[in-house]
Amino acid sequence: AHLDRIAEVDGAVHAFLHVDAEGALAQAAESDARRAAGATRSALDGVPIAVKDVLATEGLPTTCGSKILEGWIPPYDATVVRRLKAAGLPILGKTNMDEFAMGSSTEHSAYGPTRNPWDLDRIPGGSGGGSAAAVAAFEAPLAIGTDTGGSIRQPGAVTGTVGVKPTYGGVSRYGLVALANSLDQAGPVTRTVLDSALLHEVIGGHDPLDSTSIDQPLPALVEAAKRGAAGDLSGLRVGVITEMSRQEGGLSGWQAGVLARFQESVDLLVKAGAEVVEVSCPSFVHALATYYLILPAEASSNLAKFDAMRYGLRVWPEADASAEEVMRATRDAGFGDEVKRRIILGTYALSSGYYDAYYGQAQKVRTLISRDFDAAFERADVLVSPTAPTTAFKLGAKLDDPMAMYLNDLATIPANLAGVPGISVPSGLADEDGLPTGFQILAPALADDRCYRVGAALE
Ligand code: GLN
Repeated sequence: AHLDRIAEVDGAVHAFLHVDAEGALAQAAESDARRAAGATRSALDGVPIAVKDVLATEGLPTTCGSKILEGWIPPYDATVVRRLKAAGLPILGKTNMDEFAMGSSTEHSAYGPTRNPWDLDRIPGGSGGGSAAAVAAFEAPLAIGTDTGGSIRQPGAVTGTVGVKPTYGGVSRYGLVALANSLDQAGPVTRTVLDSALLHEVIGGHDPLDSTSIDQPLPALVEAAKRGAAGDLSGLRVGVITEMSRQEGGLSGWQAGVLARFQESVDLLVKAGAEVVEVSCPSFVHALATYYLILPAEASSNLAKFDAMRYGLRVWPEADASAEEVMRATRDAGFGDEVKRRIILGTYALSSGYYDAYYGQAQKVRTLISRDFDAAFERADVLVSPTAPTTAFKLGAKLDDPMAMYLNDLATIPANLAGVPGISVPSGLADEDGLPTGFQILAPALADDRCYRVGAALE
């Protein structure tokens, strides 16, 4: 049914870069056989899933939305993919994304943009717009995204889906092509909070192949979602982040309809018995600037491996070109403008003599952001804000203005800098344009269960 739906709508939505109909049907048949034998492997055995094209899939193309990886077929599965297969989920294919996960609209994909199923003239968010659009368009019931600065949560918000960024180290990064190693985290994109909890339990947990993986069992996520769905939040302290929830006194640019729906969700939490407090996190206004030093620095080093020798594309400017000339021609042709912009930013920030002024300074502010979280979590069990400042904008509206594009992530980035978990759940349609808005719930590291409990209470 999902392959039929893909055939029907993906020409218009373009959520997928690659559909593996044959593989998915074979995996589904195996799942049917297991079910008949009473030997299902998990609650999600047989439920198909779409995977963002930044995760390595053995035998299936993995492009990261870039020309430089066109034609590359990984010889191994990312741990997340291996766990999906082990739990019996058929993989429908690979979803579109901004090149190397850099962007908030999926317009930076080298293979053309994905469109928002709510309005095909609008963006589905990014970088994981393909995963969110696939779920929103009913092409897949579940998807995997990755979130480095908001790429699961912001697409979730603007497509009316649920998106989760787990605690850093809670889901293995093995086989996830790194954008920024200290920020990246894979997570669920689904239509309900319970679906995300079920999927998170499949992909999460310790992996010896990732040195930053946390060697601890996951909290009971499905149980937390079920508890939240029962609607009782008594005793729970919810902190509304001042800097990210109103027009004045912090970050600006919030759409009125987004703030209105946010306030309604807060009121619902109060009705469910939660106690609401205002918490100030003054350093969050510097999160975006901090991120755009740390991320390009890490990304520029990570992208050095695409040297025309090891993977994908190789461009020969002339027959007897030197290795360096081949490398230059390949990187020139293979990387898009946004990727080049960030390589330049990153290498500049890391230049000898500039470390203290840029990268070193950004790391200090990163520590201040973590301390703001620590202080806020003394007063509240979870923190909340709108997920994204606006609803989905029109394709092309911010493409020539990098700063306007970057501002989409002002509410999601602090969680990545501090490594804490976050979920975005739908919070209704904005009055002015009838488009989805998202409600973000953040919890302390390793307390992902709280995101599920509060998120499920809002459904
Ligand atoms: N939009 C942000 C960026 O461009 C976030 C990306 C992400 O989370 N992968 O970096």
